Amino acid sequence: MNAPFSYASPTLSVEALKYSIAYKLMFTIGKDPAIANKHEWLNATLFAVRDRMVERWLRSNRAQLSQEVRQVYYLSMEFLIGRTLSNALLSLGIYEDIDGALKEMGLSLEELIEEENDPGLGNGGLGRLAACFLDSLATLGLPGRGYGIRYDYGMFKQNIVDGRQKESPDYWLEYGNPWEFRRHNTRYKVRFGGRIQQEGKKTHWVETEEILAVATDQIIPGYDTDATNTLRLWTAQASSEINLGKFNQGDYFAAVEDKNHSENVCRVLYPDDSTYSGRELRLRQEYFLVSATIQDILSRHWQMHKTFDNLADKIAIHLNDTHPVLSIPELMRLLIDEHGYNWDDAFEVTCQVFSYTNHTLMSEALETWNVDMLGKILPRHLQIIFEINDYFLKTLQEQYPEDVGLLSRASIIDESNGRRVRMAWLAVVVSHKVNGVSELHSNLMVQSLFADFASIFPMRFCNKTNGITPRRWLALANPGLSKVLDDNIDHNWRTDLSLLRELKEHIDYPSVNNDIQHAKLENKKRLAGWVAQQMGIVLNPHSLFDVQIKRIHEYKRQLMNVLHVITRYNQIKANPDADWVPRVNIFAGKAASAYYMAKHIIHLINDVAAVINNDPQVKDLLKVVFIPNYSVSLAQVIIPAADLSEQISLAGTEASGTSNMKFALNGALTIGTLDGANVEMLEHVGEDNIFIFGNTAEQVEALRRKGYNPREYYEKDKALYQVLTQIATGVFSPQEPGRYRDLVDSLINFGDHYQVLADYRSYVDCQKRVDELYRTPEEWTTRAMHNIANMGYFSSDRTIQEYADEIWHIKPVRL
Ligand SMILES: *Cc1c(COP(=O)(O)O)cnc(C)c1O
Repeated sequence: MNAPFSYASPTLSVEALKYSIAYKLMFTIGKDPAIANKHEWLNATLFAVRDRMVERWLRSNRAQLSQEVRQVYYLSMEFLIGRTLSNALLSLGIYEDIDGALKEMGLSLEELIEEENDPGLGNGGLGRLAACFLDSLATLGLPGRGYGIRYDYGMFKQNIVDGRQKESPDYWLEYGNPWEFRRHNTRYKVRFGGRIQQEGKKTHWVETEEILAVATDQIIPGYDTDATNTLRLWTAQASSEINLGKFNQGDYFAAVEDKNHSENVCRVLYPDDSTYSGRELRLRQEYFLVSATIQDILSRHWQMHKTFDNLADKIAIHLNDTHPVLSIPELMRLLIDEHGYNWDDAFEVTCQVFSYTNHTLMSEALETWNVDMLGKILPRHLQIIFEINDYFLKTLQEQYPEDVGLLSRASIIDESNGRRVRMAWLAVVVSHKVNGVSELHSNLMVQSLFADFASIFPMRFCNKTNGITPRRWLALANPGLSKVLDDNIDHNWRTDLSLLRELKEHIDYPSVNNDIQHAKLENKKRLAGWVAQQMGIVLNPHSLFDVQIKRIHEYKRQLMNVLHVITRYNQIKANPDADWVPRVNIFAGKAASAYYMAKHIIHLINDVAAVINNDPQVKDLLKVVFIPNYSVSLAQVIIPAADLSEQISLAGTEASGTSNMKFALNGALTIGTLDGANVEMLEHVGEDNIFIFGNTAEQVEALRRKGYNPREYYEKDKALYQVLTQIATGVFSPQEPGRYRDLVDSLINFGDHYQVLADYRSYVDCQKRVDELYRTPEEWTTRAMHNIANMGYFSSDRTIQEYADEIWHIKPVRL
């Protein structure tokens, strides 16, 4: 395999790198090179590479401080950054040098890269977006910092046992984390519980329990630049090592138990994606992130400016979804209670500082907290939220006296539902900009969820279509295709993805077409090798690789994909000797551990795979693979090998999607609905180069209004009838024929909430067009080239530049 291209001139010889790796192994890790294992060599290499980054990191920090530039702070409960070593080597331009150095020591860089644990500190798209944004901020030289939580256990590890998902803890820190710097002196008290005490105008929050938040920093390198940024993750520490009172009473275990209890706050990432769970520990986690971060931001600001009066000029704080929205009352509280601000001034500054990204319109995902629970854990914050709400409703009443329903609709407190705080409402009321993540999503957002607010604050809402970093998702993941691009259009696409448009001039050259086909085939062989080795399933790399990898969620409709797979199986069985286009259907993704239906769908996929893969009549014509434990690293292997990208969510439910962009950039064609960023991808690549099917968001709404009856579709469509009957009667679960009765019921008899049956026919017909095109490889590849050439817009560099110009108002640091 080719190494990712690097052109920065090597400043360090291979000899020097060999020396420093061996030095780190002996003097930092304390291991004899003669007996060191792969993890130890990996860590030694990471330390050696980190050393080469520290200087520019310190210089970047110094420049940020001395130039007193405006900074953005990006708050997110998740950062799904992926493995660090290969990305750092790419940024520094020393990939080949390290490769050479390790080879001379008898080691393989590729093997060491594979040894690194992939830190799963996020669920899916939201956390991955935050990671792409950090990469782009640094690469653009923009002064920004990420803030999150350093969970001991990230996303659970997924095993498939007898077809079912089994979760186990993923202790990603088992071999240490050489990449981070623990900041023992950067720590803040985070308080919970207690009560508030009024003393004249002054409010005291007293009798609280306390834990400490300690900072851990990671360097975020920019690509081909000295600019670097920081990702600061918080760890909890008990504030007094043990509870002395209990210790003195001789109750050692109770004393240590307290300590464990407080450190629980950063123990584990909640594995829920696009669903809201409302658990007390989660609320504590959110406040833990927020409180430590806001204190840290204020402390840094004070160091630089010795006043808070210019806060709104110097800082922007961005909220990635509502999870960190408690930052708003936390900043108010600190300004009022600790720094002597009056309420009105504190409110005004707070509004100017914050901006918020909405990630979903689905009600099951919207965060609301029960007033009693919030009041028990954060009484002072609840008080501030009530004050904000009173102030806001008062101005509303004056402005819109005639709209009777408005006050209860716009109130931050939902009184209809057991008194709950609507976190999204709080974010909208106390911020200066609110954005959606694709054109469609942003439009729907102001028409539906935030319709009232859009008329109250018309200038507040905007769109920032998501993007992905071309460094990880093309340069690192797909060296083969990267080389074809470098040979034909120069290498500068890594920092200016719009240059890919130059590929259009080469589209009619058979040799380029051929090179791209070849690169794809090699990537498919690489994945097939992985699947053979890890799962014992043999795939024919000349088949069409049809891929759906993402969180398992009903709205994403993996189930519709399965219905098509079974339809195809039936067609092949009915006519085994016809001229079928061979296919491999690849799935991967985790289901939230408490999400019954999502887990049921995983089970069904595996049951279907077992029947199809073992049917001798089907041979090579159809294979189904569920690849366990989806992660960033797996995505980097699977996506470059895909021919067809499944982006088939119910229109109006997927806010943007980002894997759709990764696939197209790697030369897959999309089969998709007009949902999320698919709509803009269609505009960029043109309708000849994408397979669009199914109802639009408007048609989905209309169908719902008029009364959708899924049973009609089931009764009228013979192929669909057959497939659902097979699933319901146990054709794929002969050991337990009734296993999927409930699943089929949910479609036919209980409303089919995600309108799978309504889109089934147009999906299956669209898949026929896919087959037809795939019969002509040159034509297929030409269309893939149109996709690659038109993906420039979907670089996260473009997205971040828009945030920087239109929301954060920040400029690059001079180095
Ligand atoms: C890109 C990515 C996602 C997001 O995928 P969608 O299909 O956009 O939901 C989720 N998980 C990982 C590991 C990713 O790399």
